[in-house]
Amino acid sequence: MQMENKPHAALLVSPGVGHLIPAIELAKRLLTHHNFLITVFVVTTDSSTARSIITQHTSNLPSLNVVIFPPVDVSAKLGPNPSLEARMNFTMIQSLPLLRSSVLSMNPRPTVLIVDIFGTLAFPMAREFGMLTYVFFTSCAWFTAATIYLSVIDKEMEDRHVNYREPLHIPGCKPVPFEDSLEAILCRDGPMYEGFLKAAQDIISADGILVNTWHGLEPTTVKALMDREILGGITKGPVYFIGPLVRSTEPKTKEKDEILRWLDDQPTGSVIYVSFGSGGTLSAAQMTELAWGLELSRQRFVWVVRPPKEEDTSGSFFDVVKGGKECMDYLPEGFAKRNHEVGRVVPMWATQAEILGHSSVGGFVTHCGWNSTLESVMHGVPMVAWPLYAEQKMNACMLSAELEVAVRLRGPEGAVVPREEIRKVVRRVMAEKEGKAMRGRVRELMLSGEKAISQFGPSHLALCRVTTDCLNHQMNGKIY
Ligand code: UDP
Repeated sequence: MQMENKPHAALLVSPGVGHLIPAIELAKRLLTHHNFLITVFVVTTDSSTARSIITQHTSNLPSLNVVIFPPVDVSAKLGPNPSLEARMNFTMIQSLPLLRSSVLSMNPRPTVLIVDIFGTLAFPMAREFGMLTYVFFTSCAWFTAATIYLSVIDKEMEDRHVNYREPLHIPGCKPVPFEDSLEAILCRDGPMYEGFLKAAQDIISADGILVNTWHGLEPTTVKALMDREILGGITKGPVYFIGPLVRSTEPKTKEKDEILRWLDDQPTGSVIYVSFGSGGTLSAAQMTELAWGLELSRQRFVWVVRPPKEEDTSGSFFDVVKGGKECMDYLPEGFAKRNHEVGRVVPMWATQAEILGHSSVGGFVTHCGWNSTLESVMHGVPMVAWPLYAEQKMNACMLSAELEVAVRLRGPEGAVVPREEIRKVVRRVMAEKEGKAMRGRVRELMLSGEKAISQFGPSHLALCRVTTDCLNHQMNGKIY
């Protein structure tokens, strides 16, 4: 195919490793399987982290064009402790002039702008240049459905959910229990609600919506979102299910890190991996209980530890790999030494995809971020679901109550989860019959995910349709 006949996709990525990693995977797919030209624009508050992730994951793809915008200094403008949403919004607004001038200087101009849910502010610019607009949900179909439905929700029904704690009924989908609902919906008086509502309205105006999931994982919700009589009728364009897009593990020839070498010496399926994504943090008291819970469970473990934060469970979302060995100081005295035979503590950051793909790993204590969830499913690893922020409670609810591939950790509302509870859930996944059954179910999901993404599988075909939409748009000469 000639260069000029290739569609050109520009991806705009909002801050956060959890947004960057799936965007890179999508870019790689479009480049290698669908013959796109690709430019990835990365908005960040920490360009060194973004750069190291991009280098790690795209080193064999020199034709992938990545532009990292200069880091935005959030603290100088927003004062102390701004919310995650306020920071996200601010950084995205700052990036718009840079995006415009980059797009203006490009030849060929992008055919389509693909943004995550924080990037819809760039739609007016894309439309001005005649580009197609797409939203990429780096989350599950259920959250996608809740977001889309919010744009048309009957206010009375919303009242019943928010004020009377009734489940949120979404047409064609499983209702969202009040306890697992989105903070943005529940805090209707705050700026978070308004921002989310505005984003939902922009999202439904997109020419297409891409979701990192597949029918085999979420059949009911996927059906509701595809059916124009149910939820599909709310969106202007089609909803495409293109997952699971997860990071491939590094080539085996690469020198293994210390943790992977330690895992090599452990029995198959015997180690539980504990990590709360790129941003999740616990309070100091909660870290102590977790440490004791792990020790009392008498299971092997690998735990990614970062310094505690007392207020905000999304504490390190904006400065991900800062910090170092000092987080060990927050562990109970003697913890690392006492558990040296059976466990490893990793400060700040681990090679998660490789760890989950290791045959010695048999369970994952996770905050249920969607990338972590998919990585666990795609390596056939059952979970302890410990949601912290964003849509993670919905993910945890789906994984435990519906798919039955996770045990939900439930502590007293808003209080520290005690060690005994942690001990119990770890043993349920690692040492009891229940864990074995979950392992069987999660492996079935893994196989259905592999099938979905394989050549001519539904997710591959969905991206073929996106390619056709883009080629048609380009051939109609609508790019200015
Ligand atoms: N991750 C990693 N090492 C870590 C922590 C996280 O490689 O120590 C990766 C993880 O594999 C996943 C991403 O960072 O791909 C986190 O995304 P997720 O959606 O799970 O959570 P978020 O960070 O967005 O809350």
